[in-house]
Amino acid sequence: MTPQRRHAELVHSIEAHNYRYYVLDDPSVTDAEFDTLMVELKALEKEHPELVTPDSPSQRVGGEARANVTKIKREYRMMSLDNAYSAADMGEFHRRVTEGLRDGDVPTFAIEPKLDGASIEVVYEGGRMVQATTRGDGVTGEDITPNVRTIRGVPSRIKHDKKLTLRGEVVIYRKDLDALNADRIAAGLEPFANPRNAAAGAVRMLDPREVAQRPLRVIFYQAVEGPEAKPTHVETLNWLADLGLPTHRRETVTPWEGVMDAIAAIDHARKTYPYETDGAVVKVDSYRQQDALGSTSKFPKWAIAYKFPAEQAVTTVRDIIVQVGRTGALTPVAIMDPVELAGTTVSRASLHNGEQIRLLDVHVGDRVFIQKAGEIIPQVLGVESRAREAGSAHFKMPTHCPECGTAVVMRLREEGKPELGAEATTRCPNRQCPAQVRGRILFFASRSAMAIDHLGDSLVDQLVGKELVKDVADLYDLDVEQVAGLERMGKKSAENVVKSVGASRDRTLDRLLCGLGIPQIGQVAARQLAQELVTLEGTLALSEEEAREKVSGIHGFGPKMVDSVIDFLKNEDERKLMKKLLDRHVGQPQPREVVATEGPLVGKSFCVTGVLTRKREDVHALLRAAGGTIFDSVKKGTTYLVAGDKTGKTKLDQAKKFGVQVISEEEMDKLLAGT
Ligand code: AMP
Ligand code: ZN
Repeated sequence: MTPQRRHAELVHSIEAHNYRYYVLDDPSVTDAEFDTLMVELKALEKEHPELVTPDSPSQRVGGEARANVTKIKREYRMMSLDNAYSAADMGEFHRRVTEGLRDGDVPTFAIEPKLDGASIEVVYEGGRMVQATTRGDGVTGEDITPNVRTIRGVPSRIKHDKKLTLRGEVVIYRKDLDALNADRIAAGLEPFANPRNAAAGAVRMLDPREVAQRPLRVIFYQAVEGPEAKPTHVETLNWLADLGLPTHRRETVTPWEGVMDAIAAIDHARKTYPYETDGAVVKVDSYRQQDALGSTSKFPKWAIAYKFPAEQAVTTVRDIIVQVGRTGALTPVAIMDPVELAGTTVSRASLHNGEQIRLLDVHVGDRVFIQKAGEIIPQVLGVESRAREAGSAHFKMPTHCPECGTAVVMRLREEGKPELGAEATTRCPNRQCPAQVRGRILFFASRSAMAIDHLGDSLVDQLVGKELVKDVADLYDLDVEQVAGLERMGKKSAENVVKSVGASRDRTLDRLLCGLGIPQIGQVAARQLAQELVTLEGTLALSEEEAREKVSGIHGFGPKMVDSVIDFLKNEDERKLMKKLLDRHVGQPQPREVVATEGPLVGKSFCVTGVLTRKREDVHALLRAAGGTIFDSVKKGTTYLVAGDKTGKTKLDQAKKFGVQVISEEEMDKLLAGT
């Protein structure tokens, strides 16, 4: 087969998998099988650079950062939607529509969820995605084509040659945001308050490589140019879906009487949708009728957005405390009377920073509105009634750390931008601050890092309070007697603590790097980093240039991440700590994860379980070397479950459920031998 043919084949199947994963939400291959195809594509493109086009799936990791923003003037103005908040507002909309149409020309209405993200326009020409822009002021938007190319659910090619201009919403699914936020917290970054903020910020970033790291999706809700042959909006959406473009649920209702019920049904079901929905959009379905109705300078007259009321609650602020986190950030938190909000009981809400408290003018004793932004972190929206005691003082951010008394450092995130002033941060600069030390130790010991059992909150409090532990390396010097001398610690529990700390020496470099809490580096990035750096000793021996060269070559590492790693590796305190860990023999070399592209098991995935005649790690290594991929659980798409003695029932049930073939160790050996 010619390289051209194979290239076309690979592009086709990779895009088909992207479609199943990101548009249908129904993957047909494992991540590993997908990776194998990507590896082959990249190898082929390396050999034949002339085959690389901007729309190749290999380019979805994002190209060079832009130096500045290019504005693009669009042909069709991108409008906003008129809003309705009540049945009466909707009745008014219906009246205006009826009046705008000839007598007896009864409209059918299309009803769809209103997606809460950022709107964009995407243009296809000759079957290829050629341009994407933000809404901007409606007429002029920012060119974000390289960013949208990184979004895997947006097909780079479609089977339609004529020009097609589409409008859609960039969103982040709730489950993806949870994962993204967990990673950000692990990397010491602020979690996003809601999917909209995360999506809207991402589409406009200057560096597409960073955009590629955000789990963005686009859902198209309108075609403004191209679908001439289709008489209605919904038929157009169906046609777009047939072309492989992501669309969302829609239904039609005639006459008007069913519209409010359809809206109520969306309100009722929206908690089960994968994306945030803040309302329902009602549109006149027929293009002929839409044209007859026309638009105002701001909105089309044939559509309206019905906004659902946000879930809010009112409660009383009893106290405002300041918490100091692992990174030294000071966060004011309102302690409130417990109240029910969106299905959970809430008694704390973040007040973000001093600026926010000043703007809201919140005092202890006030009754406040709280809201779950994107149903994640409760926040104080405003004051409902002021019940403060006469002369009660304004809350002020402390000038000194409440934990260690060190003078704090205040920083505005961006100089000269007052609207961003609300994001000012206050930090305790003292590395030895007990709150930070505690936070770092708990983080180091956490599941996603060194996974040290028996190191709970109260134990760590005591260890730090009694100055038995000043940094994470000191953990390895603890002896049973010291630990047994602490409150609520018997000899047995002390032994357990010392034993689990000792056992954590065997963790590989990825966990150690994750546990050190390098800013910007979460669990996944730490693993990639460890693949490059291999050992702690080797890492410490690198010059800055060598380190930079290694780190900047890592797939998906943008400049911010690279700088953060380099700063960390240069930092004297961090180096001292790493040496101290090295002296205590903490951390094992990172095993190489070679993706074998040849061998009898390429494209096959395995889960190995039960008692085998060999060590499980050794079996994994054999399978990997033959091109196989290993999972630690049985999932949909896993090829084989290798079942040793005493295989658990859960694993077997999973295998049955997903139609995974169960084989013995001998059968596995035959596969390995290629027979
Ligand atoms: P607003 O920004 O509140 O004026 O609402 C208008 C915006 O809602 C549009 O610009 C779109 O980005 C967005 N939107 C979300 N879902 C839809 C939908 N189903 N149909 C049309 N617009 C939508
Ligand atoms: Zn402090």
